[in-house]
Amino acid sequence: MLTGILNETEDQRVAIVPEGAAKLAAMGLTVAIEKGAGVSASFPDEMYAAHARILDRDELLRESDILISIHPPTADDLSKVKKGTLLISMFQPFADPDVVQRLSQYGVSAFSMDMIPRTTLAQSMDVLSSMASIAGYQAVLEAARYLPRYFPMMITAAGSLKPAKVLVLGAGVAGLQAIATARRLGAMVEAFDTRSAAKEEVLSLGARFIEVEGAREDKGAGGYAIEQSEDFLKRQREEVKSRAEKSDIIITTAQVRGRKAPTLVTRDTVENMRPGSVVVDLAASTGGNCELTQDNAVIVHKGVTIVGNSNLATLLPQDASFLFNNNVLNFMKLFIKEGQLVLDKQNEIISQSLIIEAS
Ligand code: NAD
Repeated sequence: MLTGILNETEDQRVAIVPEGAAKLAAMGLTVAIEKGAGVSASFPDEMYAAHARILDRDELLRESDILISIHPPTADDLSKVKKGTLLISMFQPFADPDVVQRLSQYGVSAFSMDMIPRTTLAQSMDVLSSMASIAGYQAVLEAARYLPRYFPMMITAAGSLKPAKVLVLGAGVAGLQAIATARRLGAMVEAFDTRSAAKEEVLSLGARFIEVEGAREDKGAGGYAIEQSEDFLKRQREEVKSRAEKSDIIITTAQVRGRKAPTLVTRDTVENMRPGSVVVDLAASTGGNCELTQDNAVIVHKGVTIVGNSNLATLLPQDASFLFNNNVLNFMKLFIKEGQLVLDKQNEIISQSLIIEAS
């Protein structure tokens, strides 16, 4: 079975790294990679050559039985693939509810890596966690880049400097990594999440946990947060506003699956922040946690820099590719047996991520 790896046209990452191509070959698959696919992640074609054919995009699309990518293939790509091709990608059906309907026109099967359940058993396949962790780390580096101050406390002959204050909203995978990174750089950190389970994790990283009473939780939501009442969000925004005035940096990561991100940082809050402060909004692609965020843009509002970026993992393309690759390989071990596709649909990981099956 020919397993093709696509070049990500709008991303610096690649879904499978050279070491992964060797592992796919060892699983009994024939591997092909689109010319130049790994270059921007620092994996030139020569590094793949021992284990993979190097093809141009059209050849790869036409010949592959399995196609692996981070971003889904385009409609033009899909018009070139064989019937029955298995696609492995991040289709994000929660954000793009029509995707299954569109795929159904091409006679393909598709696994959506972002639909793999967030369970202990599937942890090694969890691309959302791998990418969120990198994004949380990178968010702090972005903030440091725009902040006109040091992070750590400094005592110098010319005077003493106070440590930067960082407020993290949403303490899931990205938020926790942001807390850890900001702490390592010497900042004072406080964080907030609606899930009570986050409190212990925030405290264990040496940050302060902010409490706002009355958050709604649903144990049946697979660990995800649920939408909060307008009254709760209003009280939360007030709390954020009072903290924001004293913060140098706000990193926002709060998401509610399948919904617009909650607005936690209002225009008023931004206008109360000190000039030079920075907001990094990782929820930018789902509407943003900051009212002023523009997706994929850096703006300055009354002296406050607002970075809207939900794709920060691509700024660390080598490690992001390596982790994505590992997640995909761990996943494929579930259904590739001696080079053949063997789908056990009783398996919860397979049944939840298989969003369409070719008839
Ligand atoms: P996410 O990206 O969906 O959301 C980020 C964070 O925002 C979450 O912690 C959420 O609770 C929080 N949030 C939502 N609304 C908020 C609001 N109004 N105010 C403040 N915070 C708000 O989350 P994620 O990082 O993908 O994690 C989702 C869940 O999955 C978490 O419970 C996490 O612990 C769990 N998880 C489990 C595993 C595993 O067991 N394999 C792996 C990864 C994550």
